[in-house]
Amino acid sequence: MSLLEELKRELDGIDVSIEERTDFSGYGVSPLAVVFAESEDHVVRTLIFANRKGLKVVPWGGGTSVTGALKCEGCVLLDLSRMRKIVEINDVDWYVRVQPGVVLDELNRELERRGFFLPPDPSSSFMCTVGGAIVENAGGMRAFKYGPFREWVLALRLALADGTVIKVGEPLRKNRAGYDLVSLVVGSEGTLGVVTEAWLRIRPLPKHEEVTLAIYPKDIFAVGEIVKVVRKSGLEPDLMEYMDAFVVRSVNKQIEPIYWEGEGGVVLVRGDNSTLSEVERLSSPFLARSEVVDGEVGRKMLNGRSLVAIAVKSEIGNIYAEDIVVPPSKLSEAILQIKRIEVENDTKIPVAGHVGDGNLHPMLREADLVSKPELFDEVGGVALRLGGSISGEHGIGIQKVNLLRSQLLNRNGEVVVKLMKEIKGLFDPKDTLNQGKFVDPL
Ligand SMILES: Cc1cc2nc3c(=O)[nH]c(=O)nc-3n(C[C@H](O)[C@H](O)[C@H](O)COP(=O)(O)OP(=O)(O)OC[C@H]3O[C@@H](n4cnc5c(N)ncnc54)[C@H](O)[C@@H]3O)c2cc1C
Repeated sequence: MSLLEELKRELDGIDVSIEERTDFSGYGVSPLAVVFAESEDHVVRTLIFANRKGLKVVPWGGGTSVTGALKCEGCVLLDLSRMRKIVEINDVDWYVRVQPGVVLDELNRELERRGFFLPPDPSSSFMCTVGGAIVENAGGMRAFKYGPFREWVLALRLALADGTVIKVGEPLRKNRAGYDLVSLVVGSEGTLGVVTEAWLRIRPLPKHEEVTLAIYPKDIFAVGEIVKVVRKSGLEPDLMEYMDAFVVRSVNKQIEPIYWEGEGGVVLVRGDNSTLSEVERLSSPFLARSEVVDGEVGRKMLNGRSLVAIAVKSEIGNIYAEDIVVPPSKLSEAILQIKRIEVENDTKIPVAGHVGDGNLHPMLREADLVSKPELFDEVGGVALRLGGSISGEHGIGIQKVNLLRSQLLNRNGEVVVKLMKEIKGLFDPKDTLNQGKFVDPL
């Protein structure tokens, strides 16, 4: 009996299909089979079978990874998208308990009906799942004010590679019981276990009316100065997003043109009226023009920001987005260095990002990376030189393994790398889950 026949027999009652997939960035996923888990029991049975047969397992949430985190050859692809129940919304203890396949936007729609929200908002929130966002420690626009997923995960049920299920954490905001294994799992890129349920902290919806300020900087180098004055002032808008002039033009083509097309692109800031007036005043030496918009127009401007990857792809073909973070005080220098690399390589490197917290997404053309693969690490090196990090939210996958090695060895040292590999070995001794990714190849 072939391995596939054995898998189908063993997983009787669970949907199994044979299919090839690609993730959002076009990395190929060629599994032996796709298993559609509909319950924790399905996850456990799949892991036990894979463990016995020495098969590798890759969990699949919404498939929006941009780092090759889903890539596999001959693995069991464990599709969790059918585990999409919202189990409980607790409006006194302020948490929501969910299965991993719930799509983030669906969850927030449900929470909003109850007067709450879950702040982290990756631009893929219309497709990505809670499980994927947890293990990627996803951020997004609101992370500037509210932080990425790590700050919102209270407890998890986790199926380990051998099928053992553990619960880590408690649905409590304060909890000092032992090592913080929840934080360890958040951002572990599906290498330590499969999240089968999560308790997430929620917040009441803000009471103030949401207004958006569109600041059009004089030029791209003014962006860092705007961020500096706002941060120095102690003001806390909800978000500070940036799109350069090329990105603005690309997005304008996708929707009804909504942004003014100046040389410096646009910085979008959202908050209450008084915060935005102050931000506008402080930014005035660095801007070409600005406008405060509310209601539908403001929402459209922010939705446009979510369309960046799609818009840029339609202009210059497939892209691979970097995800560097620098101390916000070094943003101007980072942008300068990226633009220098762009000129030296006679190419186009559009830049967008969550500038409020120093997180930039320079986008590299696939065509350039084919002829010059080292370009990716060259741009990532900007973060390393400026005391930043090679990834703020997208993670490592297979894409940034070289950069991760550089960062960890140079900044943290060999002992830290060894500890990380030992942690992986403790959770997953047979290297079953997401083999060859994240810290595995270090
Ligand atoms: C257009 C676009 C915009 C984006 N914008 C942002 C952004 O603003 N901020 C940001 O942080 N990211 C962003 N991303 C990256 C990506 O969407 C996020 O990292 C997202 O959280 C991944 O969720 P997913 O459900 O699609 O996971 P997948 O892509 O399916 O999986 C990602 C990784 O998680 C693992 N995994 C999935 N589910 C589980 C589970 N239940 N248990 C264990 N492991 C699991 C997978 O094996 C894989 O390693 C963007 C992506 C796209 C395509």
